[in-house]
Order: sequence, then structure tokens, then C-alpha cells
Amino acid sequence: FQSYGVHRWGAGMFAPLPNGDMGLVNPARPQDTPASLPELLHNLDARGIHTPVLVRVGAFLKRQLEMLNTSFAKAIEANGYQAPYRGVFPIKVNQQAEVIDRIVDYGRPYQFGLEAGSKPELILALSRDLPKGALLICNGIKDAEFIRLGILARKAGINCVLVIESPGEADTVIAEAKRLGEKPALGVRIKLTRRVTGNWADSSGDRSTFGLTTKEVVDLVDKLRAEDMLDCLVLQHSHLGSQVPQMMDIRQAVDEACRFYTELRRLGVPLTYLDLGGGLGIDYTGEARASDNSVNYTVEEYCANIVETVKYQMDEAEVPHPTLVTESGRAIVAYSSMLLSDILEASYFDRSAPITPEADDHHMLSDMAAITGYMTPKRVQECLNDAEYYREELRALFRRGVIGIEEVARAEQIFLFIVGRIKDLVAQTPDVPQEVLEALSAHRDIYRANFSLFQSLPDVWAIDQLVPIAPLQRLNETPLRRAVLSDITCDSDGKIDQFVLGDGVGNALPVHELRAGERYFIGIFLIGAYQETLGDLHNLFGDTNIVTVDFNDDGVLEILHEVEGDTVAEVMAYVEYEPKQCLDAFKRIVERGVQDGTLNPSQRRMLMETYRHALGGYTYYEHEEHTNG
Ligand code: PLP
Repeated sequence: FQSYGVHRWGAGMFAPLPNGDMGLVNPARPQDTPASLPELLHNLDARGIHTPVLVRVGAFLKRQLEMLNTSFAKAIEANGYQAPYRGVFPIKVNQQAEVIDRIVDYGRPYQFGLEAGSKPELILALSRDLPKGALLICNGIKDAEFIRLGILARKAGINCVLVIESPGEADTVIAEAKRLGEKPALGVRIKLTRRVTGNWADSSGDRSTFGLTTKEVVDLVDKLRAEDMLDCLVLQHSHLGSQVPQMMDIRQAVDEACRFYTELRRLGVPLTYLDLGGGLGIDYTGEARASDNSVNYTVEEYCANIVETVKYQMDEAEVPHPTLVTESGRAIVAYSSMLLSDILEASYFDRSAPITPEADDHHMLSDMAAITGYMTPKRVQECLNDAEYYREELRALFRRGVIGIEEVARAEQIFLFIVGRIKDLVAQTPDVPQEVLEALSAHRDIYRANFSLFQSLPDVWAIDQLVPIAPLQRLNETPLRRAVLSDITCDSDGKIDQFVLGDGVGNALPVHELRAGERYFIGIFLIGAYQETLGDLHNLFGDTNIVTVDFNDDGVLEILHEVEGDTVAEVMAYVEYEPKQCLDAFKRIVERGVQDGTLNPSQRRMLMETYRHALGGYTYYEHEEHTNG
């Protein structure tokens, strides 16, 4: 359990069971025995829901949402701040209905709202019954129809605020408001000049693509005043980018946002909401330091810093405290989803038994085999150098036609045996040269897991996002092997070779050796934010099965909702094939085989049945004893 750093990144939501299973902790009853994830997978198997499966845990979503709201409430109380916090969830971070509906539901006591960044997201948000007083903040590029919806929805009691993102948009908003004879509630997105660090640094600073420059903001104020609409401008918005690593960056950005706010108030703008956007990060590695995958602050510190900074600035400028708004997405949903899968096969790099070269083999095979004779802790570097030298030379001889394929195969086997011996020795030796460790780290096992990196973890592929990964069983057994994780796409990019470990980040995942006839499950954690809809259909691997689980009043983990993953027919339809036509076309091709006499009628039947069955089945690897459908 310690090998994977779960105690550091898991925020108390994951714990091992005495039998070695990974368990989910019920946040409402942390003293209960955790719910076993392998057991959940066996239950799902029995229902016909197989790995890979995305599991969403309602209680984890609730915990994060409550933590954010109560942390703000505490900071507000502690500082004597005179206005409330009214957060919104940015729909783009996870648009799935199961997630949005739960957020609306769990957020009701806090008047928690939604943020829509596009017309489709607004249409979705309008159909959710938001609590009274909750905000529906509309960011993004808006056409007249979008604006019309935003203006008229207010008449239906929905607290819709249209955030102006560009000068041109202001003209459309004014025209539409006049046409409808209604006053909208408006926001203005400002560009902060401060830049932050992290993966999303480009969203910040005055070169960011969104928001109005200072000059444009002043022009907007003049324009709204001239149109007798200045009273509509109630919200100021800014966004620093997601996953901001440093508290200092956030604090300085809030400071600058406050300067804009107090200045706009001085110009007579009746602002009452200060929206500070997203950016509240997650500690994916558990290192609690400012880096691309970690943050140097907690949710409580984030809230306290914001409240203190805003209060100080407003009091200085003698401006009433604004209602605080954040658009925290990642921090609310990241913990609640995990992808559970299983290892289909392993290629062990040092699993080779010792062999003796044959009498007429090239002498370099015996030379290589002789390395074991002088292998001592002091000479590991030399042994590794020698083994690599002989292997290279023998490969060159093969390329030149001097030795045959069987000899090369024997040489590989000797080489792997030696690397294995060196690894064993190194494991028991202190002060091994760094170069040896680096060279050895290239010889990692490959564990092939049943999932697609491109479909399920697009940020891991695209921006080297680190996500914690751990086996779901045998956590009470020391993992002796070190592996990279490969997916089932036939793309060499489809692998993970950077891992969150107990003592930092490493290039190999500690794993247990597979046992015959026993499945080996792994969990990929903290993936609730951004991954589900960014994923793509590389190699036509579709959406995975999805289940929502939650603890009931008795603390028992229940399966609440299941969504079957895409079938082969469904993904074919996405890329413009008509499955029925494919079936008919294949039938005609098969018929030719029958006429040519190469297929007999029973083979024809089996072939067609298999094709038809696969068409309706899961796109991922299916274990024959329990295929989907
Ligand atoms: N608000 C806006 C305008 C965004 O662009 C984003 C995403 O980058 C967010 C909120 C959500 O940010 P986070 O997931 O870091 O909370």
C-alpha cells in the first residue's frame, strides 16, 4: 500500500483491507471496514459488466463539494466577511448527467450553481432544476440565440449571468436585450496580467485568448452607461488556468482581480459578484509541493487565502464585500472517478532460465554466460557493460548473416538471465551507481492492461498528466516486479511509464507477478475531471462501461446506476459505417467462400455468428467465459 503512496494522494478515501484488497472508505463513516474494489468487480462481472469499467463514487463527489463549501463558510465566518460564497461547477469538466445531477443535488444546501461554456452546455444547464439563488454563469462565445436564452431564462427565475468575453459580444448582448425589452445580468471577463506556472499557464496573463483588455473593459463600461445598461453589470470574472500549483500565484491573482473590482466600483459599476474562475488544484502525487501534478496548498488554505485577500482589499477601498464565486471543477470531481481494469498478460524482462550455449554456438555466447562467474556487488556495472556489449556484437553478427536466429534467441535468453541476476544483486546492495540504476530501469516488465489510454486517459497521453495507479489486490504482499503499463491499442504511445510512488515519482510501477488462473486488477485513480469527454476512438475502442456506486444508509456500497460501454456497432456508426450493411456485405463475401468450397456450411454458420456477436459486443478485450451480451 505504501509503495503506491495511496496514504498521500488518497485524501483518506482509499484504504487497504486485511486481505490485501484496495478498499473505498465511506467518508460519512470512516471507521467502517472499507468496501473492497475487487469484490465490486466480481459483483459487476456477475451482472455482465466487465472491465474496463469506470466507477464513479457518489460519496466522494459529495465529500469534495461539501469540503469546498464548508471551507469557504468557515473562512467567511472566521474573517467576519460580509457576503456569502456561491460556487458554480463548470460543466465542461464532467458533463455526464449522473455527475451533473449529483452536483446539483449535493449542492442544493449551498445554493451551488453551474457554469456553461457553450450553447449546448447552457441548454443542458437550463434543464436542471438549480436551487433558488444559485448562479448559472455563461462563459464562452455566445451567438444571439445563446444570449436570448440567457436573458429570458431570468424571467423563469434562473439566475443566469452572461459574461462578456469580447467587445463584439457586448454589441450582440445590447442589441438582443433591446429587442427583447429586458435587462440581462452581465459579467465581464477581465484578463489578469499575472501569469501562473503549471500545465495550463497559457490560460493566464495578458496573452491569454479570453477576456477583455483593460482598455476594452473601460470601453465596455462607457458603452453600457451610454445604453443605460450599466446597472446590468454585476459580475467580474477572471480565470487563471486549471491546476494552479502555487498558492502564491492564486493569491497574487486574487489581489489583482480585487484591484479591477474596486476600480470598476469606483467608476460606478454596481458589481456584486467576484468570480475567480477555476484553478483549485489536486495533489495527484501526494507530494504537497508546487509542480505540474501537485499543489502546495489545501482546499482550506485556498479558501482562507481568497477570503482574507478579498476582505483586505475591499476594506482598504471601502467597497462592500462581494459575493465570492469560484468555478472549481477539477477539485470537485477528480477524486470521484476511477478506471478499473485488469492485466491481460505480462512480458517479464528477466524471467529467463539459465541456459548453456550449444557446442557450435559462437564463442561470445559462452563469454556472456560466463559473466555470472564474476558477478559481485562491486562489479555490477562491469557485468552490465559486458552483457550489453556481447548482445550488441551478436546482433551485429546476425545482421551480417554470420549467426542464425536460434543462436540470437539463445543469446537473448542468456542476456535476460544476467540482467535478472544483476537486478537481484542490486536490490540487496546499497550505493549502486546511478548509471546502473538508470540502465536497469530500461529493463522493465510490460504489463498489458485492458483499456485505451486515448479513450480513458487523454491527458496522460497529451500532456503527461500523472495519475495514481495501483493494483487492487495483494496489497499486503511486497510487489517484487517493476513494470510499465501498456494499453491494448496498437500504438506505441499507448503506454504509461511515469508513476506516482510512495516516495515520489518513478518510471516503473511496482507490481506482483501474475498467477495462473487468477485475475490481476489495477485501478487508475483521480480521473473524474476532463477525461471522459476528451477521450477519443483511437483503434475504435469506445466508451467503457460505467457504474455509479454509493454507500447506503447502512454503510454498504451499492451499485446505483450502470451504463453499458459502446458496442462495436456503435463505434462503427460513429465513423460512418452502417453496421447492418457491413453484416450484409460480409455475408456476401462469406457466401463466395461457400461457393468456392473453401468454407463448409457449419464453418459458415460459426463465422457469421461470431461476426454478428462481436458486432453487438464490447470493443475491449473480452474474456471468453463471460463475453458481453
Ligand atoms: N472556469 C473556466 C472559465 C475554465 O476555463 C475552467 C477550466 O480551465 C474552469 C473554470 C475549471 O477549472 P478547474 O477545473 O481548474 O477548477
